[in-house]
Amino acid sequence: MHDSWTIKKKTSDGSLPLVSRTAESTVVWVRDVPIGGADAVVMAGPCSVESREQVTETAMAVKAAGAVILRGGAYKPRTSPYDFQGLGVEGLKLLREAGDRASMPVVTEVMSEADIDVVADHADMLQVGARNMQNFALLRKLAKTRLPILLKRGPSATVKEWLAAAEYILHGGNGSVVLCERGIKTFDNSLRNTLDLAAVALVKEMTHLPVVVDPSHATGKRSIIGKCARAAIAVGADGVIVEVHPRPDEAWSDGAQSLKIDDFTEMMAGLAVPLRGVLSVR
Ligand code: PEP
Ligand code: MN
Repeated sequence: MHDSWTIKKKTSDGSLPLVSRTAESTVVWVRDVPIGGADAVVMAGPCSVESREQVTETAMAVKAAGAVILRGGAYKPRTSPYDFQGLGVEGLKLLREAGDRASMPVVTEVMSEADIDVVADHADMLQVGARNMQNFALLRKLAKTRLPILLKRGPSATVKEWLAAAEYILHGGNGSVVLCERGIKTFDNSLRNTLDLAAVALVKEMTHLPVVVDPSHATGKRSIIGKCARAAIAVGADGVIVEVHPRPDEAWSDGAQSLKIDDFTEMMAGLAVPLRGVLSVR
């Protein structure tokens, strides 16, 4: 590759001109849904697409409760090779079908360069998983697609590295990037990860790109996801993405962090309630 990626003799000064804050914030459109505008958006759906019934039932329910984008994994980055790896192309088709039935755009992960074309044929937004945040070959190729990208923060990535990954996509020609904080690795193992909400506030100051939060992977714990979603919006996130399953006990992946339909409805109601008052000292 010897176009805009050609190695320059001069080393860069570390600045990230394309992602850095400008007066105007960027709104990323996922079909007809604006991310980064006045209203926060909620994306929801199963961790993995498992069957037509499971993804359709989830899609209809989250749509009824107020979600505007359907999520669902067909290519799953699993820690163990013996864990469910996703339905692949069949999963993409079922996700597309469920999104169409519920009139929602769909977002799904693309794990490898080889899968970009088929995933782009079925999805409205392409997710770069946390483990792939610094897969620069993948980022370069995604920069050449016309679809918006959901760029998850790597579990051990600094804010600067996360923004530099986004810079790759903008530099390659795709300006539609939404950043997603999904928890980082710290000394504390009380939860699956540590939700870095301060980074969300910070990144909102550093970039014009929209930023969303995934409290499902950040915490791994169903009972606190609604509270963390609320905190994310309070700190300035442009939306949240959460995992929902009609029967989490039977989920093929991430059941413990999947909201039941009722939990999701409760989360949506909670997002609409104003923050508590502050005792006045006057
Ligand atoms: C997911 O969204 O299902 C997922 C695997 O997320 P992450 O890459 O953040 O772990
Ligand atoms: Mn998951």
